[in-house]
Amino acid sequence: MVDARALALDLEANGVVGVTVAWADNNGIPRSRTVPVATLPQVAVRGIGVSTLFAVFDTHDGITYAYEGLATPSGDVRLIPELGGLTRLAGQPALAWAPGRQVTADGSPWPYDQRGVLEAQVEAAAADGLEIKAGYEMEFVLTEAGGVSQVNNQADAEPRLAYHAPAYSPHALLAVDEFVADLLGDLAGNGVPVNQLHAEYGPAQVELSIVASDPITAADRQLLARQTVHAAAREHGLRACFAPLFTAAGVGNGWHLHTSVWRGGRNLLAGAPSAERPGPDGAGWLGGLLRDLRALAAITAPSVPSLARLRPGYFASAYQFWGVENREAPLRFIPGSEFLGADHANVELKVSDASANPYLALAAVIATGLAGLRDGADPGEPVQVDPGRWSEQERAARGMIRLPTTPGEQEEALTTSPRLTAVLGEHLLGAFLAVRRSDAAWAADRPLEDIVAAHRWRY
Ligand code: GLU
Ligand code: MG
Repeated sequence: MVDARALALDLEANGVVGVTVAWADNNGIPRSRTVPVATLPQVAVRGIGVSTLFAVFDTHDGITYAYEGLATPSGDVRLIPELGGLTRLAGQPALAWAPGRQVTADGSPWPYDQRGVLEAQVEAAAADGLEIKAGYEMEFVLTEAGGVSQVNNQADAEPRLAYHAPAYSPHALLAVDEFVADLLGDLAGNGVPVNQLHAEYGPAQVELSIVASDPITAADRQLLARQTVHAAAREHGLRACFAPLFTAAGVGNGWHLHTSVWRGGRNLLAGAPSAERPGPDGAGWLGGLLRDLRALAAITAPSVPSLARLRPGYFASAYQFWGVENREAPLRFIPGSEFLGADHANVELKVSDASANPYLALAAVIATGLAGLRDGADPGEPVQVDPGRWSEQERAARGMIRLPTTPGEQEEALTTSPRLTAVLGEHLLGAFLAVRRSDAAWAADRPLEDIVAAHRWRY
């Protein structure tokens, strides 16, 4: 048990004046409240009052009243900081940060709390004697900060890229050297362990990958890493675009989600030594993800730009299949080896981006994986090429199915998957679908360029 009073005193003594409590909404957008540090002991117990309507905020800060469970402006829930995740922000030293969970006004579980949904799946895994490890990769485009329009509060339409240099080159990052140095230092200071950072394929695109951990920590860290990147970018006159697409036609920002499943300290995705296939239980996990992939994608890549990002030829994935180290596959199986060790084995979900709620995305992955493991779901044979290069007839002949390309197909996929509708539960599902419909209606008559521009700085 963390002693909130001692914590508050210690923070105060170190110059911290406020604590930001953050969560992510159904659009993957971080929301927050900041309280004076002296109130932390009280806030840790009773929380901060926030509107129930955050569950039905759409991507554009519109509130939809279309879901009957949350159809009025009346109602409040309590946002409780998780003190175990409280972090003094290295890049914002006057502030500390904590992930929040939402409970009802009488302190009982609130069915719209996404963090609670993930906790339930972690418990379901534990009840089966299983442990999950997860880690997010985050791609983002760096631009010069630019200004904000006085008219509509939108960031300038034509941001200037932060650097122009070959993909993956060290001199690309040289142009943002001070930012990178501060970012790595701040991430370490904030307790976000990093696998690696590099100049990615897209123009001024950077990738940051976070070390795998338990699922709740992985989702908390994904939120904290965003805050850390935004703060470091601001310090250096830059801005980070996390949106699934920076431009309508260009390379997207994937937030690939790596998972592995363990029993008794053994990684079930590790096959026989040097085998390019998961072990039997690991195959069930992979088969479960594959079986529900179209519905899963409605949660892990839910926005209108998410749908446009899923094109063949961009390493973003577009069809329902798995492959061994295949970068066009939505499910890329990464085997272990005698050289790398069995623990290296994991599944990378590429149909995943910043517009997903990080807790819900992980909960959905775990639920489908667990179901697959229980049922012994068969993933079939891996595909080692890009099916996007096959003809339409060839894809049809081989049963290669496209992932949803419209909000309507996305909703259909989600609502017809009993396993995934059960993960969200009736209330959260209702709110989630209402928000998706609100976004879809907003986007319906707009060109993709405008849609992409409106999402660019939301995450
Ligand atoms: N940028 C690609 C995407 O949209 C991923 C590139 C990669 O494989 O790292 O997911
Ligand atoms: Mg990448």
